[in-house]
Amino acid sequence: MSSCKRSQTIGVKVGDVMIGGSEHVVIQSMTNTPTHDVKATLQQILALQAAGAEIVRVAVPDKAALEALPSLIKKSPVPLVADIHFDAALAIGAIEAGIAKVRINPGNIGSEAKVRDIIRIAKKQGTAIRIGINSGSIGGDHDQLVKTSINILNKYIDWFKSERFDQLVISMKSSNTLETIKMNKQIAKHYPYPLHIGVTESGVGDAAIVHSSIGIGHLLLKGIGNTIRVSLPGDPVKEIPVAREILQAVGLIREGVRLIACPSCGRTQINTEKYAKIVTEKLKDIHVPIKVAIMGCVVNGPGEAKGATYALCGGKKEGLIFAHGQQVRKVLNEDLVTALQEVIDADLNKTKEEPK
Ligand code: SF4
Repeated sequence: MSSCKRSQTIGVKVGDVMIGGSEHVVIQSMTNTPTHDVKATLQQILALQAAGAEIVRVAVPDKAALEALPSLIKKSPVPLVADIHFDAALAIGAIEAGIAKVRINPGNIGSEAKVRDIIRIAKKQGTAIRIGINSGSIGGDHDQLVKTSINILNKYIDWFKSERFDQLVISMKSSNTLETIKMNKQIAKHYPYPLHIGVTESGVGDAAIVHSSIGIGHLLLKGIGNTIRVSLPGDPVKEIPVAREILQAVGLIREGVRLIACPSCGRTQINTEKYAKIVTEKLKDIHVPIKVAIMGCVVNGPGEAKGATYALCGGKKEGLIFAHGQQVRKVLNEDLVTALQEVIDADLNKTKEEPK
């Protein structure tokens, strides 16, 4: 399925990760530990990487954070981005420390001369730059805001162009999902640079996930966006599975388990939500693309699970396991998860052993 071919953009090198220039959409996040606390920040970077983040951003609000960068850069398994506001000297310091990318908001980093200083040193060091603008600071209605944003970006981008700097990523975020969509569509039309997309301050819990999924998902389906960040409050590691689900939903990731569960109804014989959670956890280390269905009954379950590679269907006392559309086991409901895992493991091992 190639449901969302990327718009062609310049490739921007962030350490050993390429943003743009290909189909691959990079997942990134941001630590929320004090950056000067190297131990805590590194721990969070490692947790983010283990969950699937390919790039991690750290805030650099002061000298103490800047001084922590060499250690973090040395120990981090993924390229780091320094997030800087208001102080051009911090951006220059981060670049000199060897950061892979700096994120600046030209609107608050200082004069044109200061921005040009950052660009020149980044060019010399091979550091990428993201110019990130949050629309909250711009104001106006939708149409006016889009126009103003593009005008502001044009002005900034001219500075980069005249310095012959093209390792540039752009982001234009808003806490309003529709505004985010509209602005990014316009930006994608105007510029060849890769876009970092996300809905900023998207709320909490379900609301945050829904807003991010609609905003990011819609843009990706239009071929827009080269790196994504799902903004959720609290532990940033929670952002990564949501980002992966979004990429999976739009057909940009075809690996790992796609779990589907019936919504359950009056025929349900098992707690599908509980079973689905257990199965998700048990199969989390599988990276080959398989679809697993958790169905509440043996009456409609097998039919409704059509298309799943494997399915588990609850029965009156005993339920059924299906593999590739065929019934392969009948076991007590409480043994369904174990039986499902045995069937999947045996099948995947067999595939590994088959001569190519
Ligand atoms: S699979 Fe069975 S329990 Fe689940 S929604 Fe369909 S009929 Fe109801």
